[in-house]
Amino acid sequence: MIAFDNSYARLPDRFHARLDPTPVARPGLIRVNQALARDLGIDPAALESPEGVAVLAGNRVPDGAEPLAMAYAGHQFGGWVPQLGDGRAILLGEVTATDGQRRDIQLKGAGRTPFSRMGDGRAWLGPVLREYLVSEAMAALGVPTTRALAAVTTGETVLRETPLPGAVLTRVAASHIRVGTFQYFAARNDIDGLRLLADMVIARHYPDLTATPGPYAALLDAIIGRQARLVAQWMGTGFIHGVMNTDNMAVSGETIDYGPCAFMDGFDPDKVFSSIDRGGRYAYSNQPHLAQWNLAQLASALLPLMNPDDREAAVPAAQALVDGFTDRFRAEWLAVFRAKIGLGDRVEPEDEALIARLLTAMAEAGADFTATFRALGEGTPLPAALAGWHADWTARLSREGATPESRAAAMNRVNPAIIPRNHLVEQVIASAVEGDFAPFHAMTVALERPFDAAPDSAYRTAPLPAQEVARTFCG
Ligand code: AMP
Ligand code: MG
Ligand code: MG
Repeated sequence: MIAFDNSYARLPDRFHARLDPTPVARPGLIRVNQALARDLGIDPAALESPEGVAVLAGNRVPDGAEPLAMAYAGHQFGGWVPQLGDGRAILLGEVTATDGQRRDIQLKGAGRTPFSRMGDGRAWLGPVLREYLVSEAMAALGVPTTRALAAVTTGETVLRETPLPGAVLTRVAASHIRVGTFQYFAARNDIDGLRLLADMVIARHYPDLTATPGPYAALLDAIIGRQARLVAQWMGTGFIHGVMNTDNMAVSGETIDYGPCAFMDGFDPDKVFSSIDRGGRYAYSNQPHLAQWNLAQLASALLPLMNPDDREAAVPAAQALVDGFTDRFRAEWLAVFRAKIGLGDRVEPEDEALIARLLTAMAEAGADFTATFRALGEGTPLPAALAGWHADWTARLSREGATPESRAAAMNRVNPAIIPRNHLVEQVIASAVEGDFAPFHAMTVALERPFDAAPDSAYRTAPLPAQEVARTFCG
């Protein structure tokens, strides 16, 4: 059914704990992501068959799988936790997709593991559907991300504040190796383990560096570059990750771990959704700073590889790379937002200030992030508070070469008409809990084409004040 080749399972025992998923009472198919299955070289019909659903629920271990929970550590909200690890996720194995890239296939919510601590190893339906919708929307928006291959119900109840229906998400990732995986080995002074890990990451995610002598500084540099780009893309879609702990930063450069994440409606740079983020550590505008903080932790973990004889001697080079994130992020951010307002290759020094003035005016007006940027390309009216900015923008555009039509088309390719709006995601989840999955399926299909939604698409609608979601939860 699935042609596994499991390089992570071949690493030494201290990298993982081998165990099978815990079977569930009554597996029920919600959805298989047919296009993704085909990209992975898996027959979608096989996944939808009873045997396939048993695999997706963790009731049947497919041939060739070598299930395991990965060990990792991490800083959670700035506090060091020496051992985290997959507490409710089990890696079935890896496949080579039709693009030639290796991908992990993991069941999230597959039962307890040696890393579960106080947790039950399970997920409830709400976060599973949210991760499916949001991760697939991010992929359609062109933001690097883990993917959702399938969602199933378990026929079991999960206890959160109340009893809730259980579910399992099948997650696909370039890999599940995190900053926290590096920290795990560095904190144990397990330099051999650290080197094995780094060499695997180079081979798997940064193959251009395999020929580089002393490749570990180059690896840090490359990971910093991907994170600068990734976080700039988050900022450009109004995305708030919510739990940017070092265990939730993938070294592949993909967005990972969709918990209390959300897209903003009205623009507010200080916006926080997560119920557990009381200090606003992971607020929208803090995301670049916290990415840099996480990368500094990665840099510390890599010091013993950068200079095996004297790790202190590697500090200045590592520090310079981490400091360099600031300018690299700023360049990526500028590229993202220049495109959003329809500016082409001719950069002017005032462009950054023009974008900043738009964002300030949007924040003052509480203008809807997605709808405002979309209106620029569609030529629909902007909020009245943006009239002054609009005049400046029009003057700036007069110095651009593109025709208004091609500029509008280009803006409509980078400014989505629809994103998974929180209040609509909540409605989808509420229906699903009642047994009606039709809204989930419909939203999934709509979000496959976020740049093409019709002007009257219901998914465009910003929430009424009473519908606004103020808080999101980890699940
Ligand atoms: P997160 O905040 O999602 O990054 O999770 C942090 C840690 O808690 C990871 O080690 C997870 O595997 C673990 N975890 C989260 N939810 C559960 C759960 N329901 N059962 C067991 N472990 C969990
Ligand atoms: Mg996590
Ligand atoms: Mg999580």
